[in-house]
Amino acid sequence: MATEIQMVTAVERDWSTDPVRASDISDWDLTTDVVIGGYGGAGVCAAIEGVEAGADVLAIECRPTGGGTTITSGGQLYIGGGSKLQKDLGYEDSPEEMLKYLLALCGPNADEEKCRYYCERSAAHYDWMVDHGVPFRTAFFPPSEGTIPPGDEGLMYTGSELGYPYRDLAVPAPRGHTVAHPGNNAGLLLMQSLLEAAEGLGVKVAYESYIERVVMDESGRVVGAIATIDGQEKAVRARRGVLLTTGGFIHDRGMVERYAPRILDCFPPLGENTEDGSGIRIGMGAGGAAIRMDESSIVMPFAPPRDLLRGIFFNKLGQRFVAEDLYQCQLGEAVVMHQGGVAYILLDSEIGPENSMGAQVCAEGSLEEIEQALGVPATGLSNTVAQYNQFAANGEDPLFQKHPNWIRPLDKPPYKVLDISTDKCAFPTFTLGGLWTKPTGEVMTVEGRVIPGLYAAGRTSSGFPAAGYNSGMAVADCTFFGRMAGKAAAAADPAD
Ligand SMILES: Cc1cc2nc3c(=O)[nH]c(=O)nc-3n(C[C@H](O)[C@H](O)[C@H](O)COP(=O)(O)OP(=O)(O)OC[C@H]3O[C@@H](n4cnc5c(N)ncnc54)[C@H](O)[C@@H]3O)c2cc1C
Repeated sequence: MATEIQMVTAVERDWSTDPVRASDISDWDLTTDVVIGGYGGAGVCAAIEGVEAGADVLAIECRPTGGGTTITSGGQLYIGGGSKLQKDLGYEDSPEEMLKYLLALCGPNADEEKCRYYCERSAAHYDWMVDHGVPFRTAFFPPSEGTIPPGDEGLMYTGSELGYPYRDLAVPAPRGHTVAHPGNNAGLLLMQSLLEAAEGLGVKVAYESYIERVVMDESGRVVGAIATIDGQEKAVRARRGVLLTTGGFIHDRGMVERYAPRILDCFPPLGENTEDGSGIRIGMGAGGAAIRMDESSIVMPFAPPRDLLRGIFFNKLGQRFVAEDLYQCQLGEAVVMHQGGVAYILLDSEIGPENSMGAQVCAEGSLEEIEQALGVPATGLSNTVAQYNQFAANGEDPLFQKHPNWIRPLDKPPYKVLDISTDKCAFPTFTLGGLWTKPTGEVMTVEGRVIPGLYAAGRTSSGFPAAGYNSGMAVADCTFFGRMAGKAAAAADPAD
């Protein structure tokens, strides 16, 4: 796949991220309370909170308009714990059940403090969105139809809550909240609404401008930033803080190779080409630790049609390795992280081979013929299918506990196999690792010491989503923790 895709080059800027000493600055070009580098999802929410708290805020955005990757997104937010939309549609949820699910999903990668903090405030985040002009329609899109509504329904499942083992560990609830915009680009309406709200509140933005380094005083506090504004290098004093919200690093292939090599073969990189890691590098230059850098959202959009869930995934040994009805990012992770990027779907003659990501039929015929064609060890696949069919006759899947709705024996040859390996199919991927922050967005050093005056949010930070990504978590994380960081920076004591 890599060879077929024209790589978009990242913003090519070569600069040192070493902080500039405040004592080396004789005159500040501009002064404000809070400088926000990057005016996408996290940046605009931080700016809104900042001005609402009474701070003077200057956002520095490299593009001619705000929005970032968030404006191109599906506009799905992972929200729960009893949001108004969940309640209005008759779905019960609680912060406790939501937390149980998130901790199970993220496993040892979970940032428990952030997960808990978010679950307790998630329903209120929905209210904040609505109060700031983001519309949601009170309608439910059923899981049997998928996770992305073609219409503008507001509530749906966008994760593995109904899958095993999650359905046994936490009471399932639909938590995908999609902005009321038909199709898969509801991020447009989300960001238009938030950018409009910010403009109304008087947020100042320097467009076509780059944040490049921070300025530190002798005590180690960040007191400003160096940015190219209107084509000129400027020293911008930030009395209360500098907040980095420039997105992740999927477009800096050198960083991907260094920090997340297992996703190097996943294409296309998902996100705007401004996601080149600049904010993470600026924060690291200032002494911030970058954590969970190899965590990523690996989308494997193998269904719709949902009918494909009735097939089985198998690896190069002919063995199943995952429940096919888990959320598409968990499937992507299973293939890339645990099967070396090589996997197939077996379908019988009653399941159509059409596939949303264009996977091609790579073998067909009897199970023995397929084993030979793919170089799967003899009986590897036949034994797998025999065992699957034995239990499928009773609607059971003792190995992976696929939901009975998707189980029936695969006993109608001839069989077909779709190749869903990383070199054959799209595996859109974006990074989840970034600067180590507290829920307040304060950036920490490797020792866990807060760097005064430095904040980060969105994909520039390591947020609450980690392994086992579900749709909506990135936008929920960047908007919510962007808000928290903007609020904290605005409330910080001003530097002398
Ligand atoms: C097609 C698509 C669909 C998606 N759908 C969903 C979804 O439905 N739900 C979900 O949760 N996630 C989704 N995602 C992922 C999600 O959109 C992103 O991870 C998230 O929006 C990133 O937000 P952010 O604020 O961190 O970055 P961004 O929104 O990208 O904002 C960063 C901003 O910083 C600017 N910038 C970068 N470097 C600099 C610099 N040095 N100086 C100044 N400015 C700079 C950029 O131009 C940009 O405006 C989707 C992604 C894609 C690509």
